[in-house]
Amino acid sequence: MTDQEESFDIVIVGSGGGGLTAALAAHAAGLKPVIMEKQSFVGGSTGMSGGMLWIPDNPLMQADGIKDSYQDGLDYLQAVIGEPDEPSSAARRAAFLANGPRMISFLQEQGLKLFRCAGYPDYYDNYPGGSAAGRSVEGIPWDGRQLGRWRPRIIAGLGRGVGLAVTTNEIHTLYSFTHTLASFLTTARVVLRTYVSRMRGQDLFTNGMSFAGQLTKILLDCGVPIWLDTAVEELVVEGGRVVGVRAVRNGAPTLIRGRRGVLLAAGGYERNPEMRLKYTAATQPNDGRWSWGNPGNTGEVLAAAIALGAKTEYMDEAIWILTPRQEMGGSTLTIARNYPHAIFVNTRGQRFVNESNSYVEVGRAMYANDGAPCWLIFDDAYRRSVPWLNKMPRLRDLAKAIPGRIPRQWLADGWIKQAGTIEDLARLTDLDPRALADTVRHFNAGAAAGTDPDFGRGVSEYNRHLGDPGHKPNPALGPVADPPFYALPIYPGDVGTMGGVVCDEHARVLDNDNRPIPGLYAAGNMAASVFGRTYPGAGASVANTTVFGYIAARHMAGAG
Ligand SMILES: Cc1cc2nc3c(=O)[nH]c(=O)nc-3n(C[C@H](O)[C@H](O)[C@H](O)COP(=O)(O)OP(=O)(O)OC[C@H]3O[C@@H](n4cnc5c(N)ncnc54)[C@H](O)[C@@H]3O)c2cc1C
Repeated sequence: MTDQEESFDIVIVGSGGGGLTAALAAHAAGLKPVIMEKQSFVGGSTGMSGGMLWIPDNPLMQADGIKDSYQDGLDYLQAVIGEPDEPSSAARRAAFLANGPRMISFLQEQGLKLFRCAGYPDYYDNYPGGSAAGRSVEGIPWDGRQLGRWRPRIIAGLGRGVGLAVTTNEIHTLYSFTHTLASFLTTARVVLRTYVSRMRGQDLFTNGMSFAGQLTKILLDCGVPIWLDTAVEELVVEGGRVVGVRAVRNGAPTLIRGRRGVLLAAGGYERNPEMRLKYTAATQPNDGRWSWGNPGNTGEVLAAAIALGAKTEYMDEAIWILTPRQEMGGSTLTIARNYPHAIFVNTRGQRFVNESNSYVEVGRAMYANDGAPCWLIFDDAYRRSVPWLNKMPRLRDLAKAIPGRIPRQWLADGWIKQAGTIEDLARLTDLDPRALADTVRHFNAGAAAGTDPDFGRGVSEYNRHLGDPGHKPNPALGPVADPPFYALPIYPGDVGTMGGVVCDEHARVLDNDNRPIPGLYAAGNMAASVFGRTYPGAGASVANTTVFGYIAARHMAGAG
């Protein structure tokens, strides 16, 4: 059967942050882009995510008089990532830092409404160039009804899971609503916002859903085509240049040409168990079973680029998220590592990392140390201090939100182990009782005074920010001393893979001889990250995909 054929200036594969931003930048530059998305929903992991974007020296910081600069951003990347390599080359770091603020201004001019996540520190704010005031921005709570018939076509985001119209900047505060007046007032504001908007018949999109929803609305208003249920299967090459893709559209094989090029923004391969196992075999096999990433991110487009000769890097790397159990994402147990009275230990019963640091760092340490899983150990003071929920209860079940009410089933089925002494807890978990008791004793001596001489937990503003605001002397540290004690395994979950094709500073895909493959661009988790194997701040990944999507579109338009 002959293919149907359609022609555009830019063919964009994937409707996550990189795809949506690139389409808007291309349209604004006078080009005709098309977005192809294989799922029935727009947004990808970007839409499902917290939706923060980490952009040094962004215009919202400037408007609020927050001190930052290109040079501070550069110093910070150097301090966190270390020496440049190919995916995180000096030129790519410079491109990210120079284009990030421009992209934010551009998106605002196009009508995207953002707010500054005031006080959400960089993950290493205590490093040179780090910012304790924070460099993240996020989409405002936005009424999805503006999308009309496209409203149900935006992928469900983080706030939907919680059942509240909560921004990512607010979410951690919900766990401490009985601890400080500030947390109580924030929680009250979120609950009020949720119920008032419902009474008004609004459908508030927050987090990544706000970002993806707003951008979709702007694109639709501009007349940019977004083709859902359109799976790209092949890259089309003519005369050594990528000139388009083959996809199945409305059941028919279709050749879609891109006169200026093709942007691969199809996410990572976190949901492809074979690829995950293939690329993690040498480090530690992980088939992605704990991934929270978008189910559409199955890596076939990445495989097509590799088959074409694209070079790859960091293929065993992911944006690790320490995960207690698949359905417990974003729960009380996920935040335990940031709170006092809780530690991680390896299978030798020893701590191995600053538990409160970036999830990517902790996940890497889990791999580098003893392998996965590790154990979360906490005491009764932690149990009493937090609500044991990962979803807002219905009004008539509100009592469930009272801190301390750990569901009995979780203890009864043996998932969470409980014992009167640390030694007995060790016996239940096959850990060495003496080693675990030594670890806890040693940790407690520092924690009582608010210090962690071994790993420096609680030193950075970031550690303190995500800790218990009511806890003194350190919001991130408290002894594990109050019986009974509890333990459960923690797995290396992720929100996406971080390895992929190697690109240059214009987002052009490079071949194994470091030459751009003509016509081929990549952004987001399709490409090896500009941040190397690190994660510098809240929203680094959405920033990475959007900024390089923006750069790619402008380069194809001859503007960048
Ligand atoms: C629950 C959760 C919370 C997160 N929180 C944050 C956060 O707060 N900040 C942050 O920076 N990062 C966060 N992340 C990670 C971040 O969302 C992702 O790493 C990032 O959004 C990836 O963007 P992308 O554009 O590369 O891919 P995606 O946004 O996943 O988009 C890729 C799209 O391509 C589509 N696609 C795949 N294959 C094909 C094909 N063959 N044909 C057509 N379409 C295809 C996919 O279906 C998908 O829609 C979070 C992720 C999750 C899941």
